[in-house]
Amino acid sequence: MDQVLLITGGSRGIGAATALLAAQRGYAVAVNYATQSLAADEVVRTIRAAGGTAITVQADVGDEAQLTAMFEKVDARLGRLTALVNNAGVVDMQARVDEMSVERLERMFRINVIGSFVCAREAVRRMSTRHGGSGGAIVNISSAAARLGSPGQYVDYAASKGAIDTFTLGLAKEVADEGVRVNAVRPGLIETEIHASGGMPDRARTLAPSVPMKRTGTAEEIASAILWLLSAEAAYTTGALLDVAGGR
Ligand code: NAP
Repeated sequence: MDQVLLITGGSRGIGAATALLAAQRGYAVAVNYATQSLAADEVVRTIRAAGGTAITVQADVGDEAQLTAMFEKVDARLGRLTALVNNAGVVDMQARVDEMSVERLERMFRINVIGSFVCAREAVRRMSTRHGGSGGAIVNISSAAARLGSPGQYVDYAASKGAIDTFTLGLAKEVADEGVRVNAVRPGLIETEIHASGGMPDRARTLAPSVPMKRTGTAEEIASAILWLLSAEAAYTTGALLDVAGGR
């Protein structure tokens, strides 16, 4: 059976590394992005140059209409979806809870939480045997922040990832006997551009000494864990929250 993967936020960072590794493992890959079309094009170009199959699919995961259109495009261009990685996520500028506006909180939860729910909804409608599908796997990207709370930096982000953990546990049980496995990866400090987007470009490097392994992780190290959870090697694993955080 052809393996078709949709990865949200596949244009950069962990998502791009996951798209590239998935293509190497034989998946046809739909690379979602929000605004950085050149970066998404580059991921697709690299996959195609190596003989793989990939397309770009633009959609803001915070917009339901854009998401349903994106899934229809994947159906039409790549065929039946077998794997979803809910990777797109944002942080905001460093702030205390007593400084956070409702606008900030709504954006954070719309993108990080509701976006993942809607993508999983669309995926389950295509994968679940209850809906006539023939199974699949979903990996949600949480964060070690869900355990740590991120005080003084972004408790809103940490709480959004806490919601992703609970979402993973609940959805995994809901669809466990419908051929769909649902797991989460909780990355630690990974070298990507997300830290600069929160106004702290050196955040990962600065905090590296606090990691038991004394180093940051790479996007490729997270991609490996995601691909394992998607694979048949993880056939009996569902509802797992896998920390990939150097012991942090
Ligand atoms: P990144 O380098 O900032 O990349 C973010 C990706 O998400 C980009 O592809 C971006 O698309 C996409 N994106 C952002 N907002 C979107 C939206 N509204 N709709 C669709 N796509 C959107 O981030 P990263 O570090 O790879 O993080 C990926 C995931 O890992 C996130 O869920 C993050 O919370 C989680 N995580 C990261 C770390 C870390 O240390 N890096 C640690 C724990 C968890 P554009 O290119 O179009 O902007």
